Amino acid sequence: MKPQVILFDLDDTLTESKQKVSDEMAQVFSRLLENNKAAIVSGAKFEQQLNQFINFLPKDSNLKNFFSFPQNATECMTFDGKIWAKEYSFSLSNEEITEITNALNKVLEETKIIENEISYGERIENRGAQITFSALGQEAPVSAKKTWDPDQIKRRDLQKRLEEIIPQYEIVIGGMTSIDITKKGINKTKAVNWLSEKLDLPVSSMLYIGDSLFPGGNDAIVIQTGIPVMETKNPKQTTGIIDSFLKENVV
Ligand SMILES: [Mg+2]
Repeated sequence: MKPQVILFDLDDTLTESKQKVSDEMAQVFSRLLENNKAAIVSGAKFEQQLNQFINFLPKDSNLKNFFSFPQNATECMTFDGKIWAKEYSFSLSNEEITEITNALNKVLEETKIIENEISYGERIENRGAQITFSALGQEAPVSAKKTWDPDQIKRRDLQKRLEEIIPQYEIVIGGMTSIDITKKGINKTKAVNWLSEKLDLPVSSMLYIGDSLFPGGNDAIVIQTGIPVMETKNPKQTTGIIDSFLKENVV
C-alpha cells in the first residue's frame, strides 16, 4: 500500500552530504508532490534546506504538499504558495545557548579531540533552536569528514561527557562529524508525531526514508514512533524508490 505521507532525511538520502540536489532527484520529487504529501526532516537549518534542495525544485512544484522540518524537527516550515511560515519552533534561550556552548568547550578541552585538526569555518554554530558542533568546521570537504570519525567512537565519547554535564538537553550524533544539541525530547520523532496529528493520519500509514536507520544512526530514533521505515544507500537509490511509488500511482 502506498504511504499517505513520506518523510525523508536530506544528507545522503535526497542529496549527497551538503551538496546541491541532482536534476533527476528534483524532477522526481516534484512529481511526487503533485499527488502526495512529503517532508524533509534533517539536522540542517532551513536556509540550508532551501539552498541545497527546495530552491532547485521545478518552479511549478506543488509545495502545498511539502513540509520542511529543519534542525531535527525543532521547527516546521510550510509554504502557502506565496510565503514560508513557521508552524512551530522550539527556540533555545540565550541562557541555554551559553550553557550548551560552555559545555561543548569544556569537553573539547578535556578530550583535546580537535587539537590538531584544521577547522574549515565555524565549529560551534548557533542555529537558533539547535547548537551544532562540527568537528572540522561547517565548510569541511566531504573527503576530510568521511575519515574523521567513521565508527562514531570520538563523538560517542563527546556525547557521553556532554550528557554528564548537560543532561537536560537532547544530544544526538548527526552527519559525519557533528553533534546536534536541542531541547530535551525534540528530535526527528517530533516531525512524525506532529504530521500524524496535523494530517489526522495514523503513524502506520506514513513512511520514513533515510540512510542512517542502523543503531546509533541519526535516523534510527524515528523507529520508536512505530512509523514504517525504509533504508536507502544513497540519493540514486532514493530516486529509484520514489520512481517506483510514482509508477504505483499510474492506473
Ligand atoms: Mg543522512
